[in-house]
Amino acid sequence: MVRPAAERRTDLVSLYSALSPEHQCPLAATRTRVVFGAGNADADLMFVGEAPGASEDREGLPFVGRAGKLLDQLLGEIGLDRGQTFVANVLKCRPPGNRDPRPEEIEECSPHLFRQIELIEPKVICTLGNFSTKLLSGSPEGISKVHGRPQRREIGGRTVLLYPLFHPAAALRTSSVLDLLRGDFAGLPDLLSGEGAAQGGGEAEEAPPLAPGLREAGERSEPAPPDSGADDPCLPQDQQLGLFGSRG
Ligand code: URA
Repeated sequence: MVRPAAERRTDLVSLYSALSPEHQCPLAATRTRVVFGAGNADADLMFVGEAPGASEDREGLPFVGRAGKLLDQLLGEIGLDRGQTFVANVLKCRPPGNRDPRPEEIEECSPHLFRQIELIEPKVICTLGNFSTKLLSGSPEGISKVHGRPQRREIGGRTVLLYPLFHPAAALRTSSVLDLLRGDFAGLPDLLSGEGAAQGGGEAEEAPPLAPGLREAGERSEPAPPDSGADDPCLPQDQQLGLFGSRG
């Protein structure tokens, strides 16, 4: 079934309203704000990080700290910006002290991520770091082994190209990782144009379906209407900016 972008966006805003600010989860007692995700509700390109850090927890938006600045810079280097992407995390709430997400937290929170993917219908999903890569690939293989190698996966009832990348925070710590991350970013334009699946000398790796068919695979629908989401009464004013804008 093909659903118009405006309809999917409305459902995404409803999901946002259901989760923010009252989302109850194991991390509710220690988080400041739910970090739902932000960007273009009809983006071809989605990034999935691990969990909000201190800056994200304070602002309620993903990747607004140093790792986010690096993400913006790397996007800029390939001629893209955040407004052309949707950025989310596996966990919507910050684990105390930035500790690793626990399996039970991932299990509790991941249905929201799968629903976001189903509604946004990205062509390419860049997983940032081990947690999102293992969750969305359905494989225990770590990021050092799989980064920069596109994999075809069925997620949310559609076939998407999963493109695992090192986490920008790891790239900030180690310059050789930054070089690898920058090299992998250079492959993104071809993946988005549909020419990069054969990167690395072969077809994108195939895998068994991960998330059962929430939606029939189909053509992409028309772009969302050109608004920024600022008229949605359910979005508090300070959270409207940067949320759900359509492609410019
Ligand atoms: N690291 C993440 O994984 N996500 C964020 O939103 C910020 C830092």
